[in-house]
Amino acid sequence: MSSKTESASIPIERGWEDIREGVKRICERFPNAYWVQLDHEAAYPTQFVQALTEAGYLGALIPEEYGGAGLPLSAACAVLETIHDSPCNAAACHAQMYTMGTVLRHGSEAQKRKYLPGIASGALRLQAFGVTEPTTGSDTTQLKTRAEKKGNDRYVINGQKVWTSRVLHSDLMLLLARTTPADQVRKRSEGLSVFLVDLRAAEGREGGKGVEIRKIDAMLNHNTCEVFFDNLEVPAENLIGVEGQGFKYIVDSMNAERILIASESLGDARYFIRRAGDYARERVVFARPIGRNQGVQFPIARAHAQTIAAELVVRKAAALFEAGRDCGAEANMGKMLAAEAAWAAAEACLQTFGGFGYAREYGIERKWRETRLYQTAPISTNMILAYVAQHVLGLPRSY
Ligand SMILES: Cc1cc2nc3c(=O)[nH]c(=O)nc-3n(C[C@H](O)[C@H](O)[C@H](O)COP(=O)(O)OP(=O)(O)OC[C@H]3O[C@@H](n4cnc5c(N)ncnc54)[C@H](O)[C@@H]3O)c2cc1C
Repeated sequence: MSSKTESASIPIERGWEDIREGVKRICERFPNAYWVQLDHEAAYPTQFVQALTEAGYLGALIPEEYGGAGLPLSAACAVLETIHDSPCNAAACHAQMYTMGTVLRHGSEAQKRKYLPGIASGALRLQAFGVTEPTTGSDTTQLKTRAEKKGNDRYVINGQKVWTSRVLHSDLMLLLARTTPADQVRKRSEGLSVFLVDLRAAEGREGGKGVEIRKIDAMLNHNTCEVFFDNLEVPAENLIGVEGQGFKYIVDSMNAERILIASESLGDARYFIRRAGDYARERVVFARPIGRNQGVQFPIARAHAQTIAAELVVRKAAALFEAGRDCGAEANMGKMLAAEAAWAAAEACLQTFGGFGYAREYGIERKWRETRLYQTAPISTNMILAYVAQHVLGLPRSY
């Protein structure tokens, strides 16, 4: 992309240039061939995650008093956007950045002192987030995994989660489970609680038991699993906040998550637009660059316009979040628009590359598969539209 196009693509201050530069240098050490190999082996990008951890990027959002960098959300957005504007993918470790937000905002001082410094340094991996269940899906308040209190000192957990990403590469899991039966709660959003589950003990890694993990063979190398709980004992001190209020805590963390994921989509979009533009200028067919044809140019130009529009909403959402203001609408809309822009860019790019787009060594088809996820997870587009319809436009609740 020429510098003229580049400056036109940044209508507002992106900021954090030093962070972008540092992350870019790390990403350069992990070219497409590294990711192709991992994909082939369905393996986890351990070295990549290690490099980001050692550089301190994954602890960006943890306050300095707990060992993190204490940076604002826009800095973490810059980290993730830069990773995705390269052959790399942050999905292997992005949860380490934001899952801790629930502990930070709702945990006790003792819990924060016990866990956050280890999470900040990477000594403790909090990569797993167990919410989705096979039978209830997007209807989170109806989830069935039960946590029953036994005596004063422990809960016993039974049930199943699905699509729990990175759980095999995590020491801790943030788990949402039911502590009051659904037919006994006053409101649908009550009766669920959040636990910090120590997987090292539970999964048998250190002799414990109660958790069985099965990897899901999926369209992308996301290290995502089914998790079965069979009388798993969790100490009562691992309950986060007040019993029964867990859904509220999870929802509370969602705006930050949406904005961070949207930043990954913006990075993906930029990657595809740059690669498509470069290829369209260089590939000569019928004695001229394919990029001279409007049929090739226009989808790339349209994706670029969509990306710029999405970027404005995402940056506004981050600014509102940092100012402590309500950003639910912007975070949701920004996430949806960025995911759609990335998909438009992915489609334009794959089409521009013709048959070569399907060759793994070009690094297009894998990113194309990866970016598609963000229209489904962590929340699907329809759920965002339902939020906008109900909470922004005042339409009746549809579900
Ligand atoms: C690779 C991957 C990684 C994931 N990682 C995690 C993770 O780490 N932790 C975790 O907890 N979850 C994770 N998920 C789960 C993800 O958040 C869910 O897949 C997603 O929220 C959708 O839930 P579902 O698959 O049950 O779809 P369903 O809820 O069954 O929905 C299916 C479709 O129907 C639509 N739909 C449902 N109800 C309505 C309605 N009322 N109105 C309009 N449309 C509707 C949905 O939008 C969707 O398109 C992951 C998923 C994937 C694929």
